[in-house]
Amino acid sequence: MGKSFSRLERVLNLEAQQGYQNKAVVGGIRQFVTFWVEKAREDAVDEADRALVEQVSEVLMDYGGLSGIEARKKAITNLQERIKQRDERVGDKAPVDKKKSAPQPPQSKPQKSTPQPPPTPKVAEKKEAQETPSKPTPPPKSQPEPEPKPQEPDVAGLSQSVLTIKGIGPKIKEQLERLGVKTIWDLLYVFPRRYDDYTLMKPIKELVYGDQVTVIGTIWETRSRRSRNNQVVVQSVISDGSAKVQATWFNQPWLADKLKSGEQIVISGTVEQFLGRLVFNNPQWEPLELEPLRTRRIVPIYPLTQGLHSKKMRTIMKTAVADWSPRLPEPLPDAIRQRCDLDRIDKTLRQVHFPESQDTLYRARRRLIFDELFLLQLGMQGQRHEWRSQPGLPIESDPAILIRFHNSLPFELTKAQKRVINEIESDMKHDVPMNRLLQGDVGSGKTLVAAAALIIAAKSGMQAALMVPTEILAEQHYQSLNELLSSQDVSVALLTGSTATAEKERIYAGLADGTIEVVIGTHALIQPNVAFKKLALAVIDEQHRFGVDQRAALRDKGAETSVGKVNPHLLVMSATPIPRSLALSLYGDLDMSILDEMPPGRQEIKTRWLKSSERERAYTFIRRQVGEGQQAYIIYPLVEESDKIDAGSAVEAYERLQKEVFPELTVGLVHGRLRSDEKEAVMRSFYEGETNILVATSVIEVGVDVPNSTIMLIEDANRFGLAQLHQFRGRVGRGEHQSYCILLADSETGTAEERLRALEQSNDGFVLAEKDLEIRGPGEFFGRRQSGIPELQLASLLDMDMLQLARTEAEKLFQADPLLEQPEHTYLREQVAHFWEAAGDVS
Ligand code: ADP
Ligand code: MG
Repeated sequence: MGKSFSRLERVLNLEAQQGYQNKAVVGGIRQFVTFWVEKAREDAVDEADRALVEQVSEVLMDYGGLSGIEARKKAITNLQERIKQRDERVGDKAPVDKKKSAPQPPQSKPQKSTPQPPPTPKVAEKKEAQETPSKPTPPPKSQPEPEPKPQEPDVAGLSQSVLTIKGIGPKIKEQLERLGVKTIWDLLYVFPRRYDDYTLMKPIKELVYGDQVTVIGTIWETRSRRSRNNQVVVQSVISDGSAKVQATWFNQPWLADKLKSGEQIVISGTVEQFLGRLVFNNPQWEPLELEPLRTRRIVPIYPLTQGLHSKKMRTIMKTAVADWSPRLPEPLPDAIRQRCDLDRIDKTLRQVHFPESQDTLYRARRRLIFDELFLLQLGMQGQRHEWRSQPGLPIESDPAILIRFHNSLPFELTKAQKRVINEIESDMKHDVPMNRLLQGDVGSGKTLVAAAALIIAAKSGMQAALMVPTEILAEQHYQSLNELLSSQDVSVALLTGSTATAEKERIYAGLADGTIEVVIGTHALIQPNVAFKKLALAVIDEQHRFGVDQRAALRDKGAETSVGKVNPHLLVMSATPIPRSLALSLYGDLDMSILDEMPPGRQEIKTRWLKSSERERAYTFIRRQVGEGQQAYIIYPLVEESDKIDAGSAVEAYERLQKEVFPELTVGLVHGRLRSDEKEAVMRSFYEGETNILVATSVIEVGVDVPNSTIMLIEDANRFGLAQLHQFRGRVGRGEHQSYCILLADSETGTAEERLRALEQSNDGFVLAEKDLEIRGPGEFFGRRQSGIPELQLASLLDMDMLQLARTEAEKLFQADPLLEQPEHTYLREQVAHFWEAAGDVS
């Protein structure tokens, strides 16, 4: 258990250090938690642990949706404290996990870096300035640094620890590690967050308020004093012969000794005004004779991590880039670089860190963006190739089976459902394994499509599995599918983490000997002791909640046959659509089916955003609907009242609602901290209509289907993301009755208002996905959504031109050398592997 928690703690600490950007783990915190929870539950040593695990899950599943740093910080801090308390309680000082070594080319024995000859200081400028103090200093031409010649690639050298670099000791090494940087190679790929352009140089006389500019001059005098609030203020007067200007530094007392009068100095900063005079406040400065690093050029500003400042980072990076960029192997074949007009990688990295001009910076970024998208595309093509290179089990379906299935349903399948079932059926006939993504908005009827596929597989004498992210959903699918499938004489089992041990054993045996034909379950399905006799079809529902590893693990349960291992046909289903324009590029490895039609009779869900002062109105409305026999959900962001987290509390709200607001009705409560038999009992009572109102946390978000419920009330709606709100709303409007969604929220800050308005205006998941992308930008949007896609540092998935270019080139290359086996593709192959391994590595 200590291990699970220490791992969590690392992630939380990292998240805190990174300023609560939801970036501590690839794919976002939420993605991490879905993995973590399963493991942590298994490891739990006692009830308190169990509860803590569920609480962590509860809080962190919502984390990405928390708007504002403050809210996130509170959530994280609170958990950090709980973990500390837990450590004290259990008394196990969390053992330090062995760090996984990053996937890297093999380490060689460390070798000394051979430093390049230091660049010649530019003395000429200094002389000129000194000799002609009365004339304005002509802005020195920024001399392009001589392009170092590329050297022999040195993979082993680049893979050494950053300690090899001059200026990096154990402390900085540790700080860099928090940025995920271990090797020199990693370091070169930490890109500036932004740049300050100080290439504009002017004589002081020509300065204008607001200029971002560099001036060169001689220090006339430097004085230091204390300000009223007791800060040390250092002030220098600088002259370049054309005029004088005053520069002020706050809280850097040591500068008083450094800025000696008579010295030549370069100052870069923004020109401000004080008492009618032009001044610099806290400008960057360097002695003139030094090579420009933070003045006179486009200055890189690096991402900050605790204790490691941009200034220090620049110095380190300067050395790293100078010494090591010439030894970088060039992964891109020359032909591609020429066709796409891309610079070499060594030049590119020099220019992205220390650009000579806006133009070289642009070219560098363009090359790096291409690289990311190209590696992304190559990886996808590779996955597809690998997937299809293992045989699948061809499934011959008897048309009578589907007809019988159709006839057993109380309604007609929609045209879209029929079409997609056909697509799946014909995919599964082949001995190449199916690899299909089914996108369909909430409520479009994906479960029935899955049911048809499961029946086809089982009826051909094979086995099939359906994996879902939560126990509630597994339970529910089991209920409804069991009915459908048993009527077709298919034997079904339910396997989750909380299935009783004896029952588990029985299911393991049934799966191994083939007597169980269809199994429905959670992550429990991919545990090592689950073995199938002949798994021919794997279906994954709500795929955005799973990672690549988990998909791969299920896939690996394929049957061993006389011809070797076969891959099961794979169907992944997703209710969080991504904009159509991008789907193809992103899911290059999958075939796509879309349910673009809702079952008939569905009415638009009427959505209203109310202020919390209007809560009573909402309650009255609920009372009326319940009076007419309908049911309602009320959603709260968190489980338990906590002074650390000022969100509404499901538990306390439940008590209040039952006792004070709806004493005459039956109110139920479900959240992630209940035991699964408790959850099951609550859900069953709601399915059966005994409970009128279900108070819930986000455990209810995915998949739950109770057609008689018509009201979805969401408290603190501003705390949830757009996709998640759309998911909540999708819990109603599933039957023939008019349904309603009420969003309660006061804060109208920033994007929350846009989200709530968007929901009021549209019921269409695809439209909302476009909107979401627009509001949040691609980084956030895809970060959380597209698990399994490596994080892109620079590229934007909205850059359709680049995507297209990368895709075309990737296809071409793939045609010629699918496994990248040709010697000239060696480095490229390694890069692809590295890029994608990082994505799979969530720890
Ligand atoms: P989702 O795509 O969100 O997983 P579900 O599969 O849960 O949607 O289906 C939503 C609801 O619509 C369920 O109650 C289901 O029984 C019903 N449904 C599915 N297909 C049809 C259909 N063709 N006609 C009428 N109702 C349908
Ligand atoms: Mg569903």
